[in-house]
Amino acid sequence: MRVHTPAVIDDDWAGLDAILDDARGAAGAYLATLRARPPAAIPPDVPAPALPEDGIGARAAIARFVRDYEPHLSASAGPRYLGFVTGGTTPAALAGDWLASAYDQNLVNDSDSIAGLAERHALAMLRDLFGLPGVFEGAFVTGGTQANLVGLAAARQWAYRRIAEPIDIAEHGLAGAPRVPVLGGAPHASVGKALAILGWGRAALERVGCLPGRQAVDPAALDARLAHHGAPAVIVANAGDVNTGDFDDLAALADIADRRGAWLHVDGAIGLPAACAPSHAHLLRGLDRADSVSGDAHKWLNVPYDAGFIFTRHLAAQQAVFTSTAAYFGAGDPLLHRTPENSRRFRALPALLSLLAYGRRGHRAMIERAIACAARLAASLPPAFELLAPVRLNIVCFALRGADEATTARVLRALHHDGVAFMTPTVLDRRPALRAAFSNWATDEHDVKLVVSALEAAARRAA
Ligand SMILES: *Cc1c(COP(=O)(O)O)cnc(C)c1O
Repeated sequence: MRVHTPAVIDDDWAGLDAILDDARGAAGAYLATLRARPPAAIPPDVPAPALPEDGIGARAAIARFVRDYEPHLSASAGPRYLGFVTGGTTPAALAGDWLASAYDQNLVNDSDSIAGLAERHALAMLRDLFGLPGVFEGAFVTGGTQANLVGLAAARQWAYRRIAEPIDIAEHGLAGAPRVPVLGGAPHASVGKALAILGWGRAALERVGCLPGRQAVDPAALDARLAHHGAPAVIVANAGDVNTGDFDDLAALADIADRRGAWLHVDGAIGLPAACAPSHAHLLRGLDRADSVSGDAHKWLNVPYDAGFIFTRHLAAQQAVFTSTAAYFGAGDPLLHRTPENSRRFRALPALLSLLAYGRRGHRAMIERAIACAARLAASLPPAFELLAPVRLNIVCFALRGADEATTARVLRALHHDGVAFMTPTVLDRRPALRAAFSNWATDEHDVKLVVSALEAAARRAA
């Protein structure tokens, strides 16, 4: 019996250039609208297409998507999308992302492709950018959540080797094991998620008080809590908290970790790029003494989703968890033994090209501009609003004076409806608030002016 490939794929392959041109055209058309398109698009309920019996081919499929869905995509890659911590994409990173799909390398194996080596080279450049010493071994993962998961998995392996009756958790699991606490001041929500996935449990996380008026942990309170628990323990520190961009005192926490026999994990998904700005690099003092450091290239480094990374100085503990041995994987030290995935895409390529394309100076300019935009918004907030925390980096946390949660939500809706800017709500010290995070390389002073006017109008309408 002869087996045919479907004719439509053969035809598509023969006409690949036209398909790629269509994709490039669609991408260019979308990107050209980034400044005008609403940052918060409210999607209509487009009916689900039925699975076609006979496919329509790539060009028609692209056209269908562009007709039915593309108009309702938000400008989340644009300069006035200030929600969450959302970077756009640099031109080089975008090209790298396309090429990663075209090359479609198998990262399971280091022996049949140079892709793994290229990934190591990208990681070495990131290490250099953030001032991490060479003892930190890295890996790319899907994002900051996964990076926290990997760092905490290594921490767990390390910690349970240090209890009175040591356990190899990767081998034997947590059943019946005593509790090892994880402590932090204002840990990101993804830390709880990581602990849930790891079987450690969300309840393992203990919140320690923050310094007055800060989102940074009180080191003395942390030290006292660790003294009470005894070793081992895990400290989860922030290099940039999500509400205000506040930093834990990493040097003080490294001292405490040394003294109390704790692992220091630094969540740097927001704040690692502060290392690029000489005015703010001091916020990362002590980072080089961490045991694990997680980061996100798809935030302030403006690499497209999904690109997080994890660095640890305990590769053996990390690999004890993530090693996946099978005769057919072969020998060596492929990256698959460092992360939850076995197979995965050539995820480092966008970051590699962007780091090469813009270098230390380019990244410095990108980071300094976002810091300046945040400072400018804080300084020019309309009088109806008040700042809830000093702007330490790129996040402005503020509130409508006297507003409750419902009014705050109305202001946000009005702002989003105007189509000028997107922000996310939060609660700071029980006060309903708004936060504007500046992470897109293209955001400039003119954008800040537009945002200020839009806030003024939104406050008037919601009052
Ligand atoms: C965004 C963020 C995360 C989670 O990263 P994802 O890329 O969304 O998975 C973790 N920690 C902090 C501080 C963050 O801002």
